[in-house]
Amino acid sequence: MAPSRGLSTNWGGKTPKNGTSICRQQCLVYEPKNTVYSQTTKYSPYYLMFGREARYPSEVPTEYEVTEDRVEHLMDNEEVFGGLLHQMTTYAQVTQNVKKSQEKIRKRKLERGLEDNFKVGDVVLKKNIREEQRKGGKMDSDMLGPFTVTAIKGKLVSLTNANTKTVANVDQLVHYQEPEERIPAKLRKASSSPLAHPLPQPPSNPSMPAHAISSPGPLPATCQGTTHPIHSNVVQDIWLSSKGEVLWSKIGPYKLFTADMQSLAPERELVSEILNSYLLWGTRKVPNKRIYVIDSFEMTAIWNGTSRGMRKLDVTEWDMLIGAVCKDRHWTLVAMYPKDRRALFVDPFGATQTQLTHCRDATRAFMRKKDMGLNLSRWSCETVVHPRQQDSTSCGVLVCKVAELLLEGSSIDFNVDQVSIGMMRMQMARTLIDDSGNLTDLCRICGEKESGDRDTSDAPVDQWIECTRCSFWFHWVCVARPNMKGIFLCPACSPPT
Ligand SMILES: [Zn+2]
Ligand SMILES: [Zn+2]
Repeated sequence: MAPSRGLSTNWGGKTPKNGTSICRQQCLVYEPKNTVYSQTTKYSPYYLMFGREARYPSEVPTEYEVTEDRVEHLMDNEEVFGGLLHQMTTYAQVTQNVKKSQEKIRKRKLERGLEDNFKVGDVVLKKNIREEQRKGGKMDSDMLGPFTVTAIKGKLVSLTNANTKTVANVDQLVHYQEPEERIPAKLRKASSSPLAHPLPQPPSNPSMPAHAISSPGPLPATCQGTTHPIHSNVVQDIWLSSKGEVLWSKIGPYKLFTADMQSLAPERELVSEILNSYLLWGTRKVPNKRIYVIDSFEMTAIWNGTSRGMRKLDVTEWDMLIGAVCKDRHWTLVAMYPKDRRALFVDPFGATQTQLTHCRDATRAFMRKKDMGLNLSRWSCETVVHPRQQDSTSCGVLVCKVAELLLEGSSIDFNVDQVSIGMMRMQMARTLIDDSGNLTDLCRICGEKESGDRDTSDAPVDQWIECTRCSFWFHWVCVARPNMKGIFLCPACSPPT
């Protein structure tokens, strides 16, 4: 048991007068303190002094009688106790042990960024030992300062500040860091161009773009709107699950994260976010045509006859309304041409007459809900000639490709063998990433401008952190509050474990 500090008596060089009473005190209080094994030396002070561990009164055999004769007899034999003969080796061991534990502490300090390579002129904080020793000053702060180092002599460091001069042991000092102002990432980035502080680009990872993102805020016109082509290796890495869940692209309202992009990998089934964003991207290639993309959720409701009619949508404003339908994990495509009073249906396996009839009725029912004064009695539905799906997983890819060509007005013809579909998937993934909207003011984890976990009382703005490698930005709280000073690797750069 560790001795209580409060009980320990400081003899202060005074020799005890009354043998017995002090001796008992020593046994109870003084001795236990010096018999405690020290973590630094790996020995107890008592052992180092006497060459053996202390014996408690209880350990002395009761039948052992201390008599005058015996003591005299022992005193006559002036022998050195066996344990003391090994003292030199013990001391050598102790020196080594002390060195080892000092090294350990230095290493631990280095890891925490507290290396003690102080030099004259450094600004430092001094540990408040008064507080630590519990001699008052408990309400004072843990660290005093800041001080400026004026001289260093071995472990002694002379310190000064505006009104005091003091001396401290180097172990009581830490480097002082100016508290950083909380500046929103946006403002901070706006004031520094990406060229101002180039980011380390490890040559071992050629897949990362030189500038994955451009700076937010006011930028030179040449920088705005430019897309940064992302090497196909990034897509490959996403597919191989070596990228954690981050935001890769934003097309209109659709945000594509790693899991969404992974659905484009060979033999995977596309998620709705991919189809919706790809259709939206397709409409942007033909700005002269008035095309409205109906979300797959809504289009499926139209197909099922459960749509409420999308009250805010004025169908007469649009030449074409297009959207994907998901039925029994199979993607099909529906387009409506209100002015031509017709619908178009594409099933990657080839549309049946039953499907065409169903599509005609479903889309007409939807148009009736809109009640735009269109004559719907002659509403019809047809399909187009297109290459057929050959496998069980590429329906989404075919829907996207047919829609793209349909919007362009190109002939709907492409190869559907395994290799071609694989290339199509890659092309789609790259397109969606390359043609993403501006992501610079979005957190790559939650995809939002403001974090949901914001303590408004403490921080009026979000704290942001930039990935040291790829320069993606994150809400500090969204990446589990890493150390702001050290290297930060985002989930996309440090493979998920
Ligand atoms: Zn976030
Ligand atoms: Zn990163």
